[in-house]
Amino acid sequence: MSKRKLATIWLDGCSGCHMSFLDMDERLVELSAQFDLVYSPLVDFKIFPEGVDIALVEGAVSSDADLHKIQMIRERTKVLVSLGDCAVTGNVPTLRNSFSVAAILEKGHGGGVPTGHLGSADSLPRLLPHVRPVHEVVSVDVFVPGCPPSADVIYGVLSDLLAGRAPSIASATRFGV
Ligand code: SF4
Repeated sequence: MSKRKLATIWLDGCSGCHMSFLDMDERLVELSAQFDLVYSPLVDFKIFPEGVDIALVEGAVSSDADLHKIQMIRERTKVLVSLGDCAVTGNVPTLRNSFSVAAILEKGHGGGVPTGHLGSADSLPRLLPHVRPVHEVVSVDVFVPGCPPSADVIYGVLSDLLAGRAPSIASATRFGV
């Protein structure tokens, strides 16, 4: 069987879910016989390719750049996985949802940043009015909660997806989580 195309994406998250992915340790070597990592913050590919089989998405959707990126990724991906609580529920990034973007930028940048911008240039991402979990902006096929999900859970889910099986709670927890 040809190798699956795997991608991992980092939106508004802390990188903890990617650290948990790396915590699969030697099991990554085992699984890598079944996939090619075609896009990820862990590698240096600049373009998200067409025809990705599985995409693991860490983080919530917080900026217009996040929104455009996840919409493009959805179009190019067969199985989209919300990986971790920030992707699944919004989690920590949604703590800003009670405040206006202007108030947040004032607090975070001391008023030195033009209202509505993350920086002084128009090319910088704009914060959305509210942070959203991934499934509120695109369809999601698999939800993997946890902050972060353990390496065992990620291994169980990824093993099933690479084998063409739908991950179940049983498979995600069979490693004693
Ligand atoms: Fe970090 Fe937890 Fe969010 Fe993962 S779910 S990106 S570990 S805060």
